[in-house]
Amino acid sequence: MPGKRLIVAIDGPAGAGKSSLARRVADRLGFFYINTGAMYRAVALWAVRLSVALDDMHRLEQLAREAQLELTKEGQVLLNGEDVTEAIRDPQVSDAASKVSAIPAVRRALLAVQRSMAQQNSVVMEGRDIGSVVFPEAQVKIFLDAHPAERARRRARELQEAGEQSDFAAVAGELRERDERDRMRPEAPLVQAPDAELIDTTGLSLEDVEEIVLRIVRSRTSNGKAAAMEH
Ligand code: C5P
Repeated sequence: MPGKRLIVAIDGPAGAGKSSLARRVADRLGFFYINTGAMYRAVALWAVRLSVALDDMHRLEQLAREAQLELTKEGQVLLNGEDVTEAIRDPQVSDAASKVSAIPAVRRALLAVQRSMAQQNSVVMEGRDIGSVVFPEAQVKIFLDAHPAERARRRARELQEAGEQSDFAAVAGELRERDERDRMRPEAPLVQAPDAELIDTTGLSLEDVEEIVLRIVRSRTSNGKAAAMEH
């Protein structure tokens, strides 16, 4: 698709399978993959390390503005030059990220970075508010969901594979709490944009979902171009 920058926005709750899907779709399309959750996690990690209180809005805004965030093509996350790809997956950081991300000034700081990352490139960007706030004009919007028990199972499996202890009930509780916080916050809550396609991934393989998404991308960017630009 030469000449025209395309944005594929993928939103949804934790454990819906956004990251694996977004990475594969980006690979297939030759687009940049941008994981915005990793950016909130990196700021949260920095705050935890510095023992900044998670309701200290002023200090957290400062960290969000000063953080040097890089997402490499290989999927690494760099915070101020340090590879924090593993460190930001810690459950304590997940919890802190959802608190830090509720602060409007923190969101504003990262929003600017997210928009600038897509200035030169076509991207697949995933998070909670990509289709609703970051790129309301995105040509393709997907809202990925799955049954809560399935999401908790997937997250528990990921933790196990990473060699971490994972108690299913604890993981399910953590996801529920984080989703509720993400859905209820006044600023950029987790919500399905009215023009997003809902995909319930319960019982579907990653390959199945990838094909569904690629079909939607094709339909919205070739013969569906006019319709996609109309809203
Ligand atoms: O996607 P992930 O689970 O890594 O995101 C971690 C946290 O970052 C989420 O629970 C959410 O609070 C926050 N987040 C957000 N907006 C985004 C992406 C993530 O508020 N676009």
